[in-house]
Amino acid sequence: MSVLIFADIAEGQVKKSSLEALSYGSKVAAQLGTTAEAVVLGDNAGDLASLGKYGVKKVHHVSSSTLDNFDAQVYTKVIAEVALSAGADVIVLSNNLNGKAIAPRLSARLKAGLVSGAVALPDTASGFVVRKNVFSGKAYANISVSTPVKIISLNSNAYPVTEGEGTAEVVPANVTVDAPKVKVTGSTKASGEVSLTEAEIVVSAGRGLKGPENWGMVEDLAHVLHAATACSRPVADADWRPHHEHVGQTGFAIAPNLYVAIGISGAIQHLAGVNRSKVIVVINKDPEAPFFKAADYGIVGDAFEIVPKMTEAIKKIKG
Ligand SMILES: Cc1cc2nc3c(=O)[nH]c(=O)nc-3n(C[C@H](O)[C@H](O)[C@H](O)COP(=O)(O)OP(=O)(O)OC[C@H]3O[C@@H](n4cnc5c(N)ncnc54)[C@H](O)[C@@H]3O)c2cc1C
Repeated sequence: MSVLIFADIAEGQVKKSSLEALSYGSKVAAQLGTTAEAVVLGDNAGDLASLGKYGVKKVHHVSSSTLDNFDAQVYTKVIAEVALSAGADVIVLSNNLNGKAIAPRLSARLKAGLVSGAVALPDTASGFVVRKNVFSGKAYANISVSTPVKIISLNSNAYPVTEGEGTAEVVPANVTVDAPKVKVTGSTKASGEVSLTEAEIVVSAGRGLKGPENWGMVEDLAHVLHAATACSRPVADADWRPHHEHVGQTGFAIAPNLYVAIGISGAIQHLAGVNRSKVIVVINKDPEAPFFKAADYGIVGDAFEIVPKMTEAIKKIKG
């Protein structure tokens, strides 16, 4: 019996969302009186023993260059094999893009109940009940899982990274890695200084900016804050910004610590992708803009005056 956490790697480092999953999974293991173990895939994996800091006792490392490129089918089969050999009762993944592709496949393969997008630790007082967001974050559902093996995919920013002392034992996992059925012939890294889905701070702008030529001030603000840039859907539809920056119901769902929305009205479909942000700052010239209802801080005024002043002020503070 154990809790197995899938730790997702990008460029030799465990993603922040996976550090959250490791911390969460370790706490679940403590709750159940068992141990937490991690599974890491690929050759370019970094210092795996250090994952002990997040509470895992053992790291199953599947070393194969085939796994350096993400393939949901191959990853699912490998994680399932490790889960079976480790005797995992609970499998935790982060509900990021890779997690969303793996979790349902894993659920079908292991005949395991899945709670996708969990936002809290399971209630194990009687049974195994996990809380998740539903209706684009407007309500919660408490899902009771009764299968012997349970899978939880954790929403980003729903559980803090908890770092302590400790070193994990790293063991090579002896599993068969199938050749992927899909051949990747090339990949282009999305432009931008910071990855949108992993960013702590996101600076986002909408149609209030009038045109793509005005995004310089958005990028300047993002640069001083070391933030990723995002946009509303009409902005991406009009090709003012690339589609990979589009957030909302039909774009990326993000949950940064700080979301700065500039010239965005705050339509329900936009909010659906950003309302899990810890702190929301809205800049809009219309005091009646719906976004102000969801904002922690609001600035009523012209973005073209406010944003450059904010950037200068932050530059001064940061020295
Ligand atoms: C099925 C469906 C799915 C959708 N999915 C998404 C989605 O995923 N993401 C998404 O974003 N939208 C989505 N939409 C579209 C959504 O309904 C809104 O139309 C869209 O979010 C509006 O974008 P916006 O706020 O940039 O533009 P607008 O609604 O035009 O708002 C512009 C805002 O800028 C303000 N403004 C103007 N000038 C200035 C200035 N100088 N300074 C400061 N503020 C200024 C205005 O007051 C206004 O509030 C979807 C719609 C549908 C029907």
